[in-house]
Amino acid sequence: MNASRLAVRCGLVATAVLAWLQPAHLGDAVERLSFKPGFNLFSPAQDVQVGKENAAQVDKQLPILRDPQLNRYVNDLGRRLASFAPNNRSEYVWQFKVVNSRDINAFALPGGYIYVNRATIEAAANEAQLAGVMAHESGHVVMRHGTHQASQAMLARAPLAIVSGILGQSSSAVSQIAQLGGGLGLNLLLLRNSRAMESQADEVGTYILYQAGYDPHAMAQFFETVEKKYPSQAPQFLSDHPNPGNRIKAVDAEIPELGPTKNWKTDSPEFQSIKQRVLAMPPAPQPRPQSQPGRQ
Ligand SMILES: [Zn+2]
Repeated sequence: MNASRLAVRCGLVATAVLAWLQPAHLGDAVERLSFKPGFNLFSPAQDVQVGKENAAQVDKQLPILRDPQLNRYVNDLGRRLASFAPNNRSEYVWQFKVVNSRDINAFALPGGYIYVNRATIEAAANEAQLAGVMAHESGHVVMRHGTHQASQAMLARAPLAIVSGILGQSSSAVSQIAQLGGGLGLNLLLLRNSRAMESQADEVGTYILYQAGYDPHAMAQFFETVEKKYPSQAPQFLSDHPNPGNRIKAVDAEIPELGPTKNWKTDSPEFQSIKQRVLAMPPAPQPRPQSQPGRQ
């Protein structure tokens, strides 16, 4: 399988949603913002299983940076963000890795396996923008977009009784999916995010930023910056996360729903230190021709 195709998937986690003095109206906001995952034939535990099996392949096929300081930083940040995610599940893994790639991108697999390309850290102006990308990916995970799409595709191929029966067996989730055949296999998980899913991931990402104390405008701002400033470095990013249509305006409309304006955090010395560390690393390898993001 072409690992680069896996980058099409977006996906997140954490355990303790801090019982953190959340004013009641924030709970109402969740209701109004309809943070509800769509139709899904998989259980959350199966999301993790599917994500784990795919992550093992990604780790073999993409150049993962093994820098302990960098990994500690992205995992600390990612897990802190995930702790504020709506619809979070204790099963989710919340594991964050950095891919040594010169393309701006990020993707997530079901169950909370999130990959951020090095170029994303380099292009982010501040911690809030990087947090925005990671919060958006977390949105794909908690809304279970990967297995939602897989469920829809499976149902289009086979009657519900058959699909449910296969998923109920104890063999590997990937082989279960492959049993549905027709050459679909893992491609079921590699469908591009729809604009509706992007909107929902934006809403969740913005919500997470707000709850975590970051400037909630940062996610949409970063996406817009990428679109305008780095179009040649991010074609796949923009394809994986298509602009659902006036992203900034939609986010601006959501923010007042979340609660009062706060003294939002935008940056940290830790982020700037990590960004410098990444910028000082040897250049990322040229992508191999076969793993070029020439994906449709
Ligand atoms: Zn997305």
